Amino acid sequence: MIALAIAVALLRSAPDVLQSHIDTSVDPGVDFFQYANGGWFRKNPIPPAESGWGIGNLVRDELYARQLAVNKKAASGRFPEGSDDQKIGDFWVAAMDEAKAEQVGLKPLAPWLTKIDGVATTRDAISVGFALQELGVRPFFNVDVYQDEKRSDVMSLHLSQGGLEMPGRDYYLDSEPRFATIRGEYLKYIAGILELSGGSGSDAPGVLKFETALATVSRKIEELRDTDRNYHMMPLAEVQAKLDPSIPWVEALATWNLRPKEVVVGQPEFFSGLETLLAATPPADLRAYLRFHLVSQFAPYLNKRAEALSFDFNNRTLSGQKEPQPRWKRALEAENSAIGFILGKSFVKEYFPPASKKRYSDLIEAFRRTYAKRIDRLAWMSPATKAKAHHKLATMVKKVGYPDRWKDYSALKIGRSSFCENMIAASQWSFRDEISKFGKPVDRKEWDITPQTFNAYYNPSNNEIVMPAAAFAIPGLKDSEIDEPLLYGNAGASWIGHEMTHGFDDQGRQFDFRGNFADWWTKEDAAQFENRAALMVKQFDGYEPLPGLHINGQATLGENIADYGGLLLGLDAFKESKSYKEGKKIAGLTPMQRFFLGYDLSWLREQTEQSLTRGLKSDVHAPAKWRVNGPLSNLPDFYEAFGVKPGQPMWRDPSLRPDIW
Ligand SMILES: [Zn+2]
Repeated sequence: MIALAIAVALLRSAPDVLQSHIDTSVDPGVDFFQYANGGWFRKNPIPPAESGWGIGNLVRDELYARQLAVNKKAASGRFPEGSDDQKIGDFWVAAMDEAKAEQVGLKPLAPWLTKIDGVATTRDAISVGFALQELGVRPFFNVDVYQDEKRSDVMSLHLSQGGLEMPGRDYYLDSEPRFATIRGEYLKYIAGILELSGGSGSDAPGVLKFETALATVSRKIEELRDTDRNYHMMPLAEVQAKLDPSIPWVEALATWNLRPKEVVVGQPEFFSGLETLLAATPPADLRAYLRFHLVSQFAPYLNKRAEALSFDFNNRTLSGQKEPQPRWKRALEAENSAIGFILGKSFVKEYFPPASKKRYSDLIEAFRRTYAKRIDRLAWMSPATKAKAHHKLATMVKKVGYPDRWKDYSALKIGRSSFCENMIAASQWSFRDEISKFGKPVDRKEWDITPQTFNAYYNPSNNEIVMPAAAFAIPGLKDSEIDEPLLYGNAGASWIGHEMTHGFDDQGRQFDFRGNFADWWTKEDAAQFENRAALMVKQFDGYEPLPGLHINGQATLGENIADYGGLLLGLDAFKESKSYKEGKKIAGLTPMQRFFLGYDLSWLREQTEQSLTRGLKSDVHAPAKWRVNGPLSNLPDFYEAFGVKPGQPMWRDPSLRPDIW
């Protein structure tokens, strides 16, 4: 708390948000990220209760300070049952009640633990596996309802690989010592959770063995980004007959009122592999596997012992966090995930007025015009493909700030019984909400993340960019205090330009303006795109953030194209602006310097080694430092702004620069 208050105060009292972060002892031509952020890092070490520290955390903490007041107020009042205030107040009271959590122990999970105890056969285990899906626990595989990749106006049922508890398949399979060590800790964690919940710790090796076998038949992260190879429309009867004779798909899905003729199977070989594994695994191991997955999922909301076990492995071992967050922050984090859109209403009312909505909507339109001009100028693309690209760009939908229509939580009951019961209820509600969409018309107005989330996304199925209000926040600055170069670099290049470019990255370019996976490129143009993208894969494959651990250039390609494209768009748009043309310095920085430092500000972030490792193995985004140094080192405007000379690390030979958008 104190460290946080100081951090925010430093930003507030600083003469300039960009200038004050700079480390003047570093040459920007050697390591721009360190130059731009080193001063801030020195004054703001990662707090012990965090696995990383940067702008996203500051935005979150400002949000939490406001939500704390909202929650306390709701908790002390009396509100009609089912109202937003009742839900917020009761969620808060239950989440903060440590004595209650001790008193109820594992009782909230009792109905499911009883089912698990009754597992005697493989068939029983599968049946319980389906029951757990309703709680958001996803043993064995994933079942989801979302837009069909090839028919964006249809909500299809998708079956995909899953069933792993650790962050990615490499955590099970990589022979590097750091992963072997983590597996040792994982085994202890599994044993601890089993013992806590009435099972036997000696079953832990069987659980790890089963998950390791699942990891072996799972695809790698970069393979999952190939839409076509992860789309197999199959009759459900065929899935049942050919892939998984032992899984009663038809019967189990019918209990959720799902009677699809066809389903989209992401990875058929995973499901046939699972069939083999199920036959080879003793039911006792499957029983332990289910018990572990259920209890592990809800451990952070149970008693002290469960919390501590979960913290030790998930936060300390996997993320390098030294101590738990205070309870009130964990309560708010859970609340944002459970009923985030309720909390979002008051957030935008207070912090995203119509003027902000207009400012960012206008900025998006400026970027759209810029993108159109860039497409016209592309030397490598044929007029036929350009015409299609223009149409896709012109019809790209923008969602700015917050949804037009708020999610309806009226079927969700939140009470004061216990933290865990509320989290179970929220998971069940969320599952039913998703499943209920099957067979219904697509709701294209929906948002996948809340307005208070420091993130944004492009959804290819809707050809839309979704920009939550919080994405544009700069801690310590009011929206009206953000100068134009900072605005174009930060909100413009790193958010708006980035998301727009996703519509045309290696994955997004394969979807048409209607959101359907359909090839609208000529063969020659597609080959041109791929050759250029290959340069970027090579560039990022070459980065080694930790000894022996490289960035995965193929897995991060879409994000890297979006970062680079966002900067190119941002530069073009910025060059049309008043402040660029006037060329006046602000806080000793030229407009162009502020633009690049503004871009960097979005990635102001340090991570523990464990958290960095986790990202490198499971995230399609490169770590912050390379999201800055990678694209900037391809940009002549950047060299000029900071005097970067040929031969310096931040300078790359023209033949190596991926000239895409
Ligand atoms: Zn992205």
